[in-house]
Amino acid sequence: MKLDDTCVLVVVDMQNDFCEGGALPTADGHQVVPVINAVGRKFHNVVLTQDWHPPGHVSFASAHPGKNPLDSVVMPYGTQILWPDHVVQNTWGAEFHPDLDLPHAQLIIRKGYLKEIDSYSAFCMVDGVTKTGLGSYLRERGIERVFVAGCAIDYCVGGLAADAARAGFETFVIDDATASIDPAPGASADRAWKEIAEAGVTRIASSDIE
Ligand SMILES: [Zn+2]
Repeated sequence: MKLDDTCVLVVVDMQNDFCEGGALPTADGHQVVPVINAVGRKFHNVVLTQDWHPPGHVSFASAHPGKNPLDSVVMPYGTQILWPDHVVQNTWGAEFHPDLDLPHAQLIIRKGYLKEIDSYSAFCMVDGVTKTGLGSYLRERGIERVFVAGCAIDYCVGGLAADAARAGFETFVIDDATASIDPAPGASADRAWKEIAEAGVTRIASSDIE
C-alpha cells in the first residue's frame, strides 16, 4: 500500500499503564512500540490518543464498593466493565511509553476525562453521543484513510477502528503494531477482530505499507 497526505496513523493509548509493569497491562504492549515507531515514520500525519482519567473514575472498580476488576456495573449509558485504577491524570501510568518515538505527531487527543462516563474509542464516549472532535479534525485535514495501532485491539483500538469505519473513513488496523488484553482463542481480542471486520475494517501487517 502506498501512503499519501490523505492517510493518518492513529496510535491508541501507548501509555505506561497499558504496557509491562503498568496497572492494566496488555500481553504485548512493550513489543509493539518499535513496530509503531518504524511504521509511524512512513506517515506524514500521526495522531496520538491518551486515555486520561480523573481519580475515582467510573471505570475503576475502586469507585464501586464491593466490586473487583472485571466485575461490571449498570450505568445510565449501559454496562460498564470495571478495571483497576489506570491512567490517572498526571501520573506515571498516564504518560506515553518512554520508548514511543513519534516526534512528528500532530495531535494528542485525550479521552475518558469525564468522571461519570468511560470512553474506549477516541471518537466518542461510550454513551455513543458525546464526541471528542476527532472526526471533525480528520475531515478538516482532508483525511480519507485511517490506519490504527496501539493498545488494545480488544477495547480502544477496536472501538476507534469501528467508529472510524462507521464515520466513512477507509480503515485499517495494523495487526503487528497492535497489542491485546486477552489474545486467547475465543477471548476478547478474537471477538474484537471479528467485530471490526463486520464493521468494514481491514486487517493488515506493517509490512503491507510501503
Ligand atoms: Zn480507561
